[in-house]
Amino acid sequence: MDYEKLLERAYTKLPKKQTAKERFEMPVAEVLNNGNNTIIKNFAEISKEIRRDPRHIAKFLYKALASAGSIEGNTLVLQKKIHKHVVNDKLHSYIKNFVICKACGKADTYLAKDGRHFYVKCEACGAKHYV
Ligand SMILES: [Zn+2]
Repeated sequence: MDYEKLLERAYTKLPKKQTAKERFEMPVAEVLNNGNNTIIKNFAEISKEIRRDPRHIAKFLYKALASAGSIEGNTLVLQKKIHKHVVNDKLHSYIKNFVICKACGKADTYLAKDGRHFYVKCEACGAKHYV
């Protein structure tokens, strides 16, 4: 085998570079403080992006932020004044727990139920972990 052919072979064996689309970027909540309320303006957008039920995300946030609230149209209204950094911090902990695959770090996952237990199943590597 000549040198060029060897080179060609070496190339085809290199792992494919990750495309920009494969890398997951944490969505950022657009937070508006309105009197004693806190509004996440892009709530529907975020839930679509991370492919989770908005009600499930909302429930997590009410508990994590110790606030009552409601989904209103595309927004989430929290009945408490909360700093945007705190809101994003809790949103990101939701994503780390319920979206990102703990085995491969990708966000190509879905949330499913096994009896009474929720688990995250990864479509990229097949890992499954209970939450
Ligand atoms: Zn995975």
